[in-house]
Amino acid sequence: MKFGGTSMGSAERIRVAARLTAEQSAKRPVVVVVSAMSKVTDLLLDSLRKAEAGDQADLDANLEKLSERHRECCRGLLPEKKQHEAIAGVERLIAEFARIAKGVMMLGERPPRSVDEAVAVGERLSAYLMALHMEAEGMPAVAVNAADVIATDAVFGNATPLMDPTRARAAAVLQPLLEGKPDQRRVPIVTGFNGSTLDHRPTTLGRGGSDFSASILAAALDAAELWIWTDVDGIMSGDPRLVTDARVLPEITYAEAAELAYNGAKVLHPRTLAPLVERGIPVWSKNSFAPEKPGTRILPSVDSGHGPHAVTSMTDVALVSMEPASAAISGTKLMARALDALAQANVEILAFTSSSYRQSFCFLVRQSELERAREFLEEDLALELVHGYLKPIEVDTDVGLIAVVGEGMRGTPGLAGRLFTAISKHDINIIAIAQGSSELTIAIVVRRSGLEQAVRAIHGEF
Ligand code: ADP
Ligand code: ASP
Ligand code: MG
Repeated sequence: MKFGGTSMGSAERIRVAARLTAEQSAKRPVVVVVSAMSKVTDLLLDSLRKAEAGDQADLDANLEKLSERHRECCRGLLPEKKQHEAIAGVERLIAEFARIAKGVMMLGERPPRSVDEAVAVGERLSAYLMALHMEAEGMPAVAVNAADVIATDAVFGNATPLMDPTRARAAAVLQPLLEGKPDQRRVPIVTGFNGSTLDHRPTTLGRGGSDFSASILAAALDAAELWIWTDVDGIMSGDPRLVTDARVLPEITYAEAAELAYNGAKVLHPRTLAPLVERGIPVWSKNSFAPEKPGTRILPSVDSGHGPHAVTSMTDVALVSMEPASAAISGTKLMARALDALAQANVEILAFTSSSYRQSFCFLVRQSELERAREFLEEDLALELVHGYLKPIEVDTDVGLIAVVGEGMRGTPGLAGRLFTAISKHDINIIAIAQGSSELTIAIVVRRSGLEQAVRAIHGEF
């Protein structure tokens, strides 16, 4: 079971998480994965930026905030006689963070591996507090640092798990805690978000990565199920912050959930589903604020009916357009070169379209990856650009992506017509469209200013 930031956000919320854990662990072995308390990761990252800028006063203020938030949690979570020891433990962990922040300040830069080691302190704090609370309430538990369990490559800030070594580490560290009768077991409270390389350098799995941590561990331990506790009733037909009448989807497939996550639905980290597919481990997305509600079940396949299941959207994207300027270079070759450059740059393409006979084409990338994409493209195609075989690369950042997702769209005629009519009623211009032949997702690029309205129009239509 994984508890997200809001579900760990206060003493009261951690009590609920502990109770939900105890209910299940009375029936079968449970491993818990926790996020940092809500907003703590942002605070830690901000502190490191302040340190890099040499801003001691702001850094100190952040450290004080961090400390007070967790001390307050100790007071609300533990009997008085245990609070002293708990607060000392909290201060020790915060001192570890402060030591790294001090190093960052001296260097005037933030080395990625130090950032990863430092930000994991948020999860180490929340895991520590939840384990202490459970112990104090007579529910045997132990905090585990995922750096001792999840093995990853060395891509700091966005690491990928190495499953075989993770399996071996999980068998050694977690399995012994799960064996025996219920009263002999101790619930491991594992930090989400972090891991370490084979030579034990600290890494993290990307923002929102605790979902991914949980699915990695579920796969490594051959879990029967994965439950992801969050702050909404499940996976919804639209982002509830945008679409007021979004409804909870009782069941969706791995493929649909992955499409939603990759296209901006924050409710799941995009890479969560991948480790589960091979073993077909089902996932529940549930609300820790309303645990009695059924939530969403994510399965290998479901009977989907016809039409889309959900709509999601993404901002902070950029549309890059390229076009050959002369017949000396074929559009196909140009595409091959451009895609190769993007692969070299390790830039993810969110959508790709080409339609004209002149083979102009465009693709969508994250704004955070735009500069790297442009640099690699311009370097790789420098000769073609200089000699005028290729028109200057055009970039449009005033756009947003909408993804309409559903297995039931496959082979259902008339959907595209309804979709585009719904958008055009609001005078919103469609800039690019992409639909793969799997017909699982229709991706639409629109002006940023029309994005929210288009999402609501599509949701209303279907
Ligand atoms: P956690 O801290 O539990 O991981 P997140 O904030 O990362 O929670 O994700 C849950 C949030 O995702 C919800 O509060 C909701 O605002 C947002 N969200 C976006 N799209 C969807 C969707 N399609 N279904 C449900 N929630 C969504
Ligand atoms: N605490 C991390 C973050 O905020 C990971 C997570 O909550 O999933 O990105
Ligand atoms: Mg999340």
